[in-house]
Amino acid sequence: MRCFQKELEELKKKGLLRSVVSRGSAQGRMIRIGGRRVLNFSSNDYLGLAGRREMIESAKEALELFGTGSGASRLLAGGTTYEQRLEEEVAAFKATESALLFSSGYAANTGIIPAIAAAEDMIFSDELNHASIIDGCRLSRARTVVYRHCDMDDLKRLLRRARARKKVIVTDSVFSMDGDIAPLDAICDLCIRHGCLLYVDDAHATGVLGGGHGSLAHFGIPPELFILQMGTFSKALGSYGAFAAGSNEVISWLRNRARTLLFSTALPAHVAAASITALGIARKEPALRERLWRNREILAKGLREAGYDIGGSVTPIVPVMAASVGEAVELSEFLFGERIYAPAIRPPSVRNPRIRLAIGAAHTQRDIRRLLSAFEKFRRES
Ligand SMILES: *Cc1c(COP(=O)(O)O)cnc(C)c1O
Repeated sequence: MRCFQKELEELKKKGLLRSVVSRGSAQGRMIRIGGRRVLNFSSNDYLGLAGRREMIESAKEALELFGTGSGASRLLAGGTTYEQRLEEEVAAFKATESALLFSSGYAANTGIIPAIAAAEDMIFSDELNHASIIDGCRLSRARTVVYRHCDMDDLKRLLRRARARKKVIVTDSVFSMDGDIAPLDAICDLCIRHGCLLYVDDAHATGVLGGGHGSLAHFGIPPELFILQMGTFSKALGSYGAFAAGSNEVISWLRNRARTLLFSTALPAHVAAASITALGIARKEPALRERLWRNREILAKGLREAGYDIGGSVTPIVPVMAASVGEAVELSEFLFGERIYAPAIRPPSVRNPRIRLAIGAAHTQRDIRRLLSAFEKFRRES
């Protein structure tokens, strides 16, 4: 194929050409990339569960019993009793009537949003929502109105003018590239005042906020009937896949209408088994979250004191803003030379280029000091 050559060269010229990076070790605070052992600040495995022995053992056990592939969609017995149990555990964990698994967070958002909103409806979407939400909105054919990031005045103004059969507010709870938190208390008030449904993407809040239960627990908001939550097992829970949690009614509707559930093969049993174990660990080991948050505070304080702009971050996602794409890439390459993996995030993933740091419970205070002194060294040498 030749038709992409010019575009590819254009990307390269702008410093926007991407490549995949292959890891040669398990996920963790230290990983192997290109034969080098580097300190890892790029993983969303916030609680360090992906490489935990109990996770591996429970996955192995299910693997021995049920094999590698699942062979069909959930509706055609592709899923096993592990999936069923995981759904029960999720519903209990989220204190909702019911829950439903999806094969990834991306599949959840692109399946659920078109199932709950159609052409006659309106969606109100935060401008920094995850790409999978944006794609879900597009697939829904609903009229999608984008409001300014976490700006309740803007949202209020748009809601006041809105006329639609159904209105749905859609938001990330923790924003994946900025690490700030949506004001869900204010958003819930607006939902009640304007008769909206609320769809919350808890990908980065699950296992992290609200004692691990997520953003609603963080705000002390009960799982009201007008709220549908989505979360993933792929981040703090160290596994893979995603879930929706809500009322019996909405979950039954999703079982009938979410196309990424109906027309896609079920998660294999060993993945569901690991997720069950992860929920157990997230419940039983609050010390992991305490370490995560302590590390987050040390990192954020260190960066702020050194004069770096970390935007509105209040979670384990800590962006370090760069002046340009060039600077972000240069800084990331410099850090790699110091044996630290902290990738640059560039457009179109974000508007403003940055290094996105993700800190975990497994990092040591020494790891954080090493990162901070590498930032300082870059500043002295550039
Ligand atoms: C990562 C992420 C997703 C996608 O989840 P996957 O399980 O990786 O497909 C969805 N929403 C948000 C906010 C995310 O950060």
